[in-house]
Amino acid sequence: MKNKMPLLFVGHGSPMNIIDDNSFTRTLYSLGKTLQPKSILVISAHWVIDKTKVVSVEKPKTIHDFYGFPDELYQIQYPAPGALQLAKELAKVAEPTGEWGLDHGSWAVLRLMFPEANVPVTQMSLNRIMTLQQHFELGRELRRLREQGVLIVGSGNLVHNLREIIWRTEAPAFDWAVEFDAIVEKELSARRWDRLIDLTAFNERQFRRAHPSIEHYLPLLPILGAADADESLTYPTAVIQNGSIAMRTVLIGA
Ligand code: ZN
Repeated sequence: MKNKMPLLFVGHGSPMNIIDDNSFTRTLYSLGKTLQPKSILVISAHWVIDKTKVVSVEKPKTIHDFYGFPDELYQIQYPAPGALQLAKELAKVAEPTGEWGLDHGSWAVLRLMFPEANVPVTQMSLNRIMTLQQHFELGRELRRLREQGVLIVGSGNLVHNLREIIWRTEAPAFDWAVEFDAIVEKELSARRWDRLIDLTAFNERQFRRAHPSIEHYLPLLPILGAADADESLTYPTAVIQNGSIAMRTVLIGA
């Protein structure tokens, strides 16, 4: 049997997780120990442009794309080498670029999972012109990379409402957040991915409240597209932080 890399959708949540010690950070740390990728491709909620691009540089910058957090967060670097070869292989689906680097949707979680920063990484943009279905189909194109030891990570949040956020990590989850997260879990566990792509799993109001903007939901779709329906699917962590941010992490094919 070939050594096929699992797929990961990870909630990244508040940048405070970069320095906090909580059940989420501990879970990601342990999860990282179980994976030995040759390289990593991250699709993060924080790079949305009108094209599909892939970072192709030797040393991707650590981008501190968050505001109003403690100074120490802005000092942290994640000096992983760039995955140039991988970026080249992706040229069919994504335009290699010297722009960008690793935003906190990438490095905040990679730093927990691969603290030594020794695995080559690249990041792919979300393309705001693409439909949800096209984001899923992009995953189909990425699927073959798993056989080459590439860990594909979608980094967003399955519930992400900053308007109702409570700036205390352990704040109790809102009922509507718990409900939305439970629907996602039910559909994922039943492999009803079509309902997560066309959003028929939710009513419109419900979706809008969980995702006033869609970018933190989108990274789930290429991950599902890169999966086979008969693969194992587990949730290493499913905590809701700050009342309105679901940190549910989806591990497929481990
Ligand atoms: Zn985010």
